[in-house]
Amino acid sequence: MSTAHLPRTLIEHGTIIAWQDGRHTVLPDDSVLAFQGSDIVYIGPRAGWHKLPGDTHIDARGRLVIPGLVNTHLHVTDTPFTRGRLEEAANTTEAPKLTTTNYGPLYQVLPAVRHALEPEDQLAAAKCAFAELARTGSTTVVEMGYDFEVGGHGDITITEDVAEIGIGIGLRVYSAPRYRKYHYGAGPAGGVWYEAYPNDGRPRMRDCIDYCIRYNGRHEGRLRTMLAPGQIDTCDPAMLRETREVANAHRLPIQIHAGQSPKEFERLRSEYGRTTIEYLKDTGLLGPDLLIGHGQVMTADGNLDSLGKDEAQALRDSATTVVHLPWVKARRGGVINSIHKYRKLGARQSLGTDTFPFDLFNDMRMAAVMCRFVERSPEAIDCRYIFHMATAGGADALGRPDLGRLAAGCKADIVLLRTDTFKAAPAHDPFVFMVLAANGEDVDQVIVEGRRIVDRGQVLTVDPEAAIAKLNEASQRVGARVAL
Ligand SMILES: [Zn+2]
Repeated sequence: MSTAHLPRTLIEHGTIIAWQDGRHTVLPDDSVLAFQGSDIVYIGPRAGWHKLPGDTHIDARGRLVIPGLVNTHLHVTDTPFTRGRLEEAANTTEAPKLTTTNYGPLYQVLPAVRHALEPEDQLAAAKCAFAELARTGSTTVVEMGYDFEVGGHGDITITEDVAEIGIGIGLRVYSAPRYRKYHYGAGPAGGVWYEAYPNDGRPRMRDCIDYCIRYNGRHEGRLRTMLAPGQIDTCDPAMLRETREVANAHRLPIQIHAGQSPKEFERLRSEYGRTTIEYLKDTGLLGPDLLIGHGQVMTADGNLDSLGKDEAQALRDSATTVVHLPWVKARRGGVINSIHKYRKLGARQSLGTDTFPFDLFNDMRMAAVMCRFVERSPEAIDCRYIFHMATAGGADALGRPDLGRLAAGCKADIVLLRTDTFKAAPAHDPFVFMVLAANGEDVDQVIVEGRRIVDRGQVLTVDPEAAIAKLNEASQRVGARVAL
């Protein structure tokens, strides 16, 4: 279909980060960017752009013009209800104590909160979370859904409703409903138990796969789907092999939670006699369309220097992407060791927020700082690489060379970031500013598929007061139901 009749918009007077020769590059001052319909049609010197009557303009003076952020792992339906409960569960007594059980809440608090959620609570949470994502510059979001037993008992229509909320706010949504064989929890002595669902979780798996096939590509491609076998230790090998077959047949990406805790690593060793990467390889999951959510504990000691040669090679050669979620780790006293080491191995990497806040700038900062901290060197990672992870790195994981970068032919998913502020002055290196100083509150405008959804820091597609009031009401109900 010809787009010649669609209005064209010129973004001018801003500092543009363009995609050139395979990397993000700061363009000279006289550069402009134009989009028409959903696509970028021009980026470069003003002299090369020919105006037509009817063109509109965005004045980007005092703004950085950057690609919309690609946030490759998050959960919108339960995060607002786990705020604080998850991290601070052990900090409720007066006497300070140090524990090594920072993974305990994962097995205790998270399931308890999720059990207390009814569908309407999840939808209230999703609305605020998606709005926050838009507000803070994430334009592509991978919503990982929730597990089988949570409110609604695996009713797939909740997934549909949640995805529609994100689409209604104007985001580009990858919807990834999870399925698994076991659910798990922690016993009083700290041990983790696993219990199989009725029918080994297969009915829910069928529903998720069916949903992924039916919904992929809706809303003119703004809604896409992803296969999401819950966690590497809550699925059986047959489940993972079937996931790979479906992914190949329907060209769907896959994301699995893996490398989340030492307990998970131990279980793979004891059950299958495999390390995490060996097991992913054996089940056929490794590949350029696989995203490993977390990827923190991939060895017994959590240090990538301990990775075997064959494992490193399998990770690199398969072009699998590791999705880092540094803030949620750091908040619980954990650290990825390290993004620098993954880079050295040649692994592909992206970023996600996982939980609150849904501000990917926060995770860029945390990724950079924690990497330098654990490697004890400021040279361990550079800000441009971190920005790449949050943009093109995520897009590549999704098989989307048209996202996460500003170039002619790419989608018009664009963020304007304020630099007319005290903290941004004087203008220096935009990558350093974005990673080490900016946050989502500096986002001024957000455009997705050529449509503006945030202007002057306001999300145009949601009534914030009503959405926040609904979430507060839901939180009261959930709080009364949570049994720990
Ligand atoms: Zn997650």
